[in-house]
Amino acid sequence: MKLHEYQSKQIFAKYGVPIPKGRVAATADEARTIAAELGGRVVIKSQVLVGGRGKAGGIRLAKDSHEAGEVATQILAMEIKGLPVRKVLVDEAASINKEIYLGITNDRSAHKPVMMASAEGGVEIEEVARKNPEKIIKIHIDPLLGLRDYQARDIAAGIDLPREYWKSFMQVAHGLWQAYVESDATLAEINPLVITGDNRLIALDGKMVLDDNALFRHVDLAELRDLDVEAPAEIEARKYGLTFIKLDGNIGCMVNGAGLAMTTMDIIKLFGGEPANFLDIGGGAGAEKVAAALRIILSDPNVKAILFNVFGGITRCDEVARGILSAMEDVKPDVPMIIRLVGTNAEKGRQLLADANMITAETLADAARKAVAAASA
Ligand code: GDP
Ligand code: MN
Repeated sequence: MKLHEYQSKQIFAKYGVPIPKGRVAATADEARTIAAELGGRVVIKSQVLVGGRGKAGGIRLAKDSHEAGEVATQILAMEIKGLPVRKVLVDEAASINKEIYLGITNDRSAHKPVMMASAEGGVEIEEVARKNPEKIIKIHIDPLLGLRDYQARDIAAGIDLPREYWKSFMQVAHGLWQAYVESDATLAEINPLVITGDNRLIALDGKMVLDDNALFRHVDLAELRDLDVEAPAEIEARKYGLTFIKLDGNIGCMVNGAGLAMTTMDIIKLFGGEPANFLDIGGGAGAEKVAAALRIILSDPNVKAILFNVFGGITRCDEVARGILSAMEDVKPDVPMIIRLVGTNAEKGRQLLADANMITAETLADAARKAVAAASA
């Protein structure tokens, strides 16, 4: 789950990282009021979950509250990389002497978090990473020991940070590390961390990505999810405990188990089809869950056929079949459905479905072939 800049910076601030004064606004009027409270020059920043807002014109300075209102009106009418701007952050403007990059992410191959820093931060950081990767220094952090003082000092030295800023840099680096660990983040990034005209170090931008699998233990952070930016089907799926990802094909997949779901998608492709989604209905394929999953799959107009591939283990196949049949009464799909059931009581389950005139299959290959044929008919 990605957090907005204003949310990330608030978390950073809780861990002692200095951020500019400011607040988020949903209307130009609110932006004007905030700018008036702050007084002086402000920066109006689009809050969308993509990078490169500055280059896209989504970050602009305003000299007073009147101009802040005008700029906010314009930015709130923008779309950046396909995402509509619904909120702007109004921050007091900083004068910038230097832009530094500082970030932490997981280095999977090293099995450790890595802190990265560059003296050449700012909007061109990707360019730096590509052309001058040696200008980005990296230090791995032992997750049990945490970020050590000497490591933070090594980074400060590595980016040639003047001595007078080392003390506040240590505070920023430790704050960022704590925010990263305690939020179960997979990314915590400040770009740019700036040295201001009045010789302070502050985080002008902030970005955090949280590990979805750890959100259950961060009730407060889970509430920060921006439902505006998620596909409605994915929100609906989460409500029923389904794992759903929309794809571009035309064969809807209803499968229990993530591994089986991936296999199903592979086999569909092998026979020349394209899956419309990844869906793991999880354990206990009861009627209510199956009906919810069916509705979600059918809300996609591209879907021309649905392939059920269910392994009855703890949940018996006859139960699954009954679940499917009662869900069908509820949802009434108008596309062909191909069903492969294996596992406990498979015979009984298949019989129930055959009696209801549904297309059943014994092997996955058979099911996939039938689904591809049905979708292209
Ligand atoms: P991004 O483009 O999405 O990464 O958005 P940022 O928040 O990083 O802003 C992009 C750039 O805008 C920064 O690198 C700065 O150069 C500039 N910028 C952002 N805030 C201020 C500010 O308060 N004052 C000034 N002068 N420039 C700013
Ligand atoms: Mn940035």
